[in-house]
Amino acid sequence: MTIFSKIIAGEIPCYKVAENDRFFAFLDINPVNWGHTLVVPKQETDYIFDIDDEQIGAMMQFAKHVAEAIKVAVPCRKVGMAVIGLEVPHAHIHLIPLQQEGDMDFKNKIADPDPARMKQTAEEIARAFRN
Ligand code: 5GP
Repeated sequence: MTIFSKIIAGEIPCYKVAENDRFFAFLDINPVNWGHTLVVPKQETDYIFDIDDEQIGAMMQFAKHVAEAIKVAVPCRKVGMAVIGLEVPHAHIHLIPLQQEGDMDFKNKIADPDPARMKQTAEEIARAFRN
């Protein structure tokens, strides 16, 4: 069971943003920017491009709706999207609110993000989410 499956199962806490029957979204614990969100399938697959065509289409649609909610809740010019997946072997899409190109720099994380602000950010995105 991956760490993300444990989060989905509620065994490890997270700042949850959105969920439907197949996908789950929550704040990245080491965000590069406020509102940095991860979108994961409930079914475990390590490499995102091993996911079948129908499922990855549905994942992208869910990610789009999460991105729309981020755009409403977090001041930004656009929401950027990235896939890395070298750390956690459970496919995930990073959604990151952007003001400038450098906001997507994964070497530049927010040091010690304030839990109260993380909670509030997740709640605001969750309120704006429409599946
Ligand atoms: P990647 O696999 O895309 O290289 O990186 C994994 C991402 O997952 C990182 O941005 C890291 O901060 C995030 N991450 C790793 N473990 C946890 C966790 O337990 N909870 C949350 N919310 N995020 C995590």
